[in-house]
Amino acid sequence: MFNFIIFGPPGSGKGTQSVQIAEKYNLAHISTGEIFRKNIREKTELGIKVQSIIESGELVPDELLVAILEDAMDSRNGVSGFVFDGFPRTIQQAKDLEVCLKKRNDAVSMVLALEVNDEEIVERLLKRAQDQGRKDDTREVIENRILVYNNQTQPLCSYYKDQELLISINGIGSIDEIFNKICELINARI
Ligand code: ADP
Repeated sequence: MFNFIIFGPPGSGKGTQSVQIAEKYNLAHISTGEIFRKNIREKTELGIKVQSIIESGELVPDELLVAILEDAMDSRNGVSGFVFDGFPRTIQQAKDLEVCLKKRNDAVSMVLALEVNDEEIVERLLKRAQDQGRKDDTREVIENRILVYNNQTQPLCSYYKDQELLISINGIGSIDEIFNKICELINARI
């Protein structure tokens, strides 16, 4: 199985690239952000619990992620692996993912970090706010999400670097350029 983590700040293009990678390599795309937004739309128990957290730009507690992850992985058969998008976001989540994969005699294959500077991120997310109207894309919440990313998620970079799993690329460029670059890197690994 090829288990691919795509990693980067909010607005770095993880979601867009993940969809294309999943399709090309027959992987199941697991976006925890999308799972949460669907639950919020459908007003499920989970959705009601996480709505205010997400709308303030904070992270959902780690304990809630494990069940969601197991569920999402179990519901996808016949794939050649997974693309994890927006997960893990903390060291604890990275450890939980390892346990979850180990149970399946599996492991993380590769972690790709998309590097985009804060200025570009704010600009992209404000534009997305106009196009898609996501509630967490206001200037104030965006600034908090960047702060949360730098404090809680960025440390994962050195965690995966130490395991020799991390590859970083510049996330500024056209969608196709970045996609081609990612494919080259994946092809060199599989
Ligand atoms: P973005 O990458 O643009 O921030 P996502 O769609 O990945 O957007 O996530 C949106 C929000 O959902 C996050 O700001 C956070 O509140 C919540 N969330 C998503 N994934 C996780 C996770 N793995 N751990 C905690 N919270 C999460």
